[in-house]
Amino acid sequence: MAVLRERGQREVFCGLAGIVWLHRKIQDAFFLVVGSRTCAHLLQSAAGVMIFAEPRFATAILQDRDLAGMADCNEELDRVVHELLARRPDIGTLFLVGSCPSEVIKLDLDTAAERLTREQQGRVRILAYSGSGIETTFTQGEDTCLTALVPEMPAADDPALLVVGTLPDIVEDQFRRLFSAMGFDAIDAPVHFLPSRTAAELPPVGAATKVLAAQPFVGDTVAALVARGAELIEAPYPFGVEGTRAWLGAAAAAFDIPDVQVDAACAGPIARAERGLERYREQLAGKRISFLPDSQLELPLGRFLARECGMTLVEVGVPYLDRRMMDAELALLPTPERLSEGQDLEAQLDRLRADRPDLTVCGLGLANPLEAEGLTTKWSIELVFSPVHGFDQAPDLAELFARPLNRRARLAF
Ligand code: SF4
Repeated sequence: MAVLRERGQREVFCGLAGIVWLHRKIQDAFFLVVGSRTCAHLLQSAAGVMIFAEPRFATAILQDRDLAGMADCNEELDRVVHELLARRPDIGTLFLVGSCPSEVIKLDLDTAAERLTREQQGRVRILAYSGSGIETTFTQGEDTCLTALVPEMPAADDPALLVVGTLPDIVEDQFRRLFSAMGFDAIDAPVHFLPSRTAAELPPVGAATKVLAAQPFVGDTVAALVARGAELIEAPYPFGVEGTRAWLGAAAAAFDIPDVQVDAACAGPIARAERGLERYREQLAGKRISFLPDSQLELPLGRFLARECGMTLVEVGVPYLDRRMMDAELALLPTPERLSEGQDLEAQLDRLRADRPDLTVCGLGLANPLEAEGLTTKWSIELVFSPVHGFDQAPDLAELFARPLNRRARLAF
């Protein structure tokens, strides 16, 4: 498949967005962004302001004096962290999250995290990662966060399956039940998830760990796990019936679990999902869809929408093409009219205006202007916030794409 490679202006959120779903998942973690007022605004508008609960994220705002190099940022950071930990003894793991401003002034948060951890004498684990917009796209914030957790994971030699990538608890529970029904319990192979629900109980990793990625954007985390001896199971991602069945099947095969056991465990959920998908297939079949490069979910979602819902792929744009993480998806993807990597925004918008697809999946910043031009859009970030993995969520996933088409059709009358 030919790939159109583009470099130029990008229109994407930054990695701070990942804090929205990471702080919900890791219940004993606190995310302290070291950034500007812009970072604080982004975080508050994306995650909402918690009025009744103690929040588990905040921004230590770099002032003009910090940015001008007139103040000792490390001293200020230490003071903020000490105050925070004194007021919030419930924090087990504190993430110092780097931003564009902290990276521009070269504030070394890794060293700060080591210094502060020593001072805490083991009471609190303090780690650093980058959520800055200098990275390629917003989902990389999760990848850098999980990569920071890998050195903290205990070592283990026993065979185990490790599912990597944030899944809502309800979806994690569904997968646990499926793995159990497939026979993982019977062969005594535990199934762990990264991130786990608490950072205090990180899953183990070692030479007998087999890694199954639940999200396509955790490539650096997978590389860090492989460096600790783990092995990656290459598989499509668990979106839609076909992707979920293939994902579970690849995990089973890696542990020599017979396919017939996977079929038996999946038969009920697959039948339910197929029934639920029927009505959305009618609405989506034959519609033309373009993905602007935004979330790294474009290939698996395009594969699901084309193969299971009958949509026609016009342009499928990905922020970056990580072959190791994407080969299994590329093998299944019906050839789109165009596959592009990276972004040169104006050129891409020109192509989009010429293509005029029925539906465009893009970032928040582009959606409203494109709607004003008469194009129908879907926010890609919603696909990361919503439970969309697995059999039971397949109809909900299809519905997320049918909804804007229905709205446009209703407005036309
Ligand atoms: S990290 Fe960078 S891109 Fe993100 S809100 Fe802060 S300044 Fe903006």
